[in-house]
Amino acid sequence: MMLYKERMIHHASYHSTRSTALKHSFEDILLAGLAPDGGLYVPSHLPHLSPAEIMRLAQLPYAALAYEIIALFVGDVISPKELRNLIDATYASFRHPAVTPLVQLDHQHMILELFHGETLAFKDVALQFLGRILDYVLQKRSEKLVILGATSGDTGSAAIAGCRGRASMDVVILYPHGRVSEVQRRQMTTIYDNNVHCLAVDGTFDDCQAIVKTLFVDQEFRTQHPLGAVNSINWTRIIAQIVYYFYAAFRLGAPSRAVAFSVPTGNFGDIYAGFLAQRMGLPIHSLIIASNRNDILTRCLTTGRYEIEPVVQTLSPSMDIGVSSNFERLLYDLHDGDSVALAELMASLKRTGGFSLSPHVHQKLQQYFMAYAVDDATIHATMQQEYARSGMVIDPHTAVGVHAARQAQMHAGRDDVVYVTLATAHPAKFPDAVQHATQIHPALPRHLHDLYEKNERYTRIANDVEAVKAYITRLH
Ligand SMILES: *Cc1c(COP(=O)(O)O)cnc(C)c1O
Repeated sequence: MMLYKERMIHHASYHSTRSTALKHSFEDILLAGLAPDGGLYVPSHLPHLSPAEIMRLAQLPYAALAYEIIALFVGDVISPKELRNLIDATYASFRHPAVTPLVQLDHQHMILELFHGETLAFKDVALQFLGRILDYVLQKRSEKLVILGATSGDTGSAAIAGCRGRASMDVVILYPHGRVSEVQRRQMTTIYDNNVHCLAVDGTFDDCQAIVKTLFVDQEFRTQHPLGAVNSINWTRIIAQIVYYFYAAFRLGAPSRAVAFSVPTGNFGDIYAGFLAQRMGLPIHSLIIASNRNDILTRCLTTGRYEIEPVVQTLSPSMDIGVSSNFERLLYDLHDGDSVALAELMASLKRTGGFSLSPHVHQKLQQYFMAYAVDDATIHATMQQEYARSGMVIDPHTAVGVHAARQAQMHAGRDDVVYVTLATAHPAKFPDAVQHATQIHPALPRHLHDLYEKNERYTRIANDVEAVKAYITRLH
């Protein structure tokens, strides 16, 4: 009993990647985004599961497994019974009884469908949980929070779906007016709960993000209006994503069979969860970073140099990023927790737009990951080919992953490994690209059938920090 308790306390302690001096509880980091030193929060000890524990977990349905894994990271902020109820409610809201079902593409390739949540992208898996646990903690403390975020697509709608109707929070999402796809925009602007606020900014996504960043560092404003972040650096999102690696691997015969995962990657949150699953004891054959033409990670894996280049628009817009913010967490691990070395790399990134990995760290990166970059022509061809071969209609992000998985399998030349590609979005979320490649117009799931008929509700706002401040100030 004592041992168990001690372990829970250990696991629920966190610090920044850039300095290990200050320790925080799960509750602290749930409500915070970045650490004050600019780093990301990581657990002081990563739980490790024994082979016997893994055998036990292998039998569990999704929500029960999610409870076992998430509880290791949460500590005593919530009672086991209440956590279990909260997780059951989270995953009961998904449209498929397996929550994240596997579908076979061919003998060696599978798709892990992560898009059965409310907004049709994998972000629902984590944000539905985050919204609920945040609400629980805020209510316990009798506090209120304004969830503030900028979105170029999937995050905004998933955050709104996770937070809508909760009395403990308002959710304010900034998006660039006229620059998000119609499905993505309507998934935000047709949610009518009083605590949901969509701000259409006269500017670009970068402008939106700059406004959000300015407000987060404005201490005076934040004292008057407590702000919460739900972007992809939020640790709680990562832990909810660890679950489906275990779940999928178990369905395919883990732990006695190791499977490979190919992950359409932008900010490195999703694949980092896979890396954690592996370090926690799940046998994984390989982790494949699938990038589009914004290939900072693939270049880094090949050359050892991490260097920012201008972002280009692609057919997989949710992966159009210049830097992968969660990569900092991996670098911290690959430097064996040397936060001083890490702070130096990050300072160099800020100063010069890049840094070089030491040969030792570069070698470790190549040992843990493979990486492939996929251009638009190949994304298009992959959607076309997969449809021709199996009748499977996949979205452009998933296509990046499938192509990378096929490359990896060719290079490995092994026929005893199963490759699982994470399907990060439903094809109906990107209907134009899908129709162009397959001539199939992907239908929206039933719960969104009237998405295109509904009235939209949003506030057009100037590209100006003061205007957004004034909006938030008027909320209460
Ligand atoms: C967010 C997103 C990604 C990228 O995930 P990261 O965790 O940022 O690497 C990939 N595909 C889709 C559809 C997304 O919405």
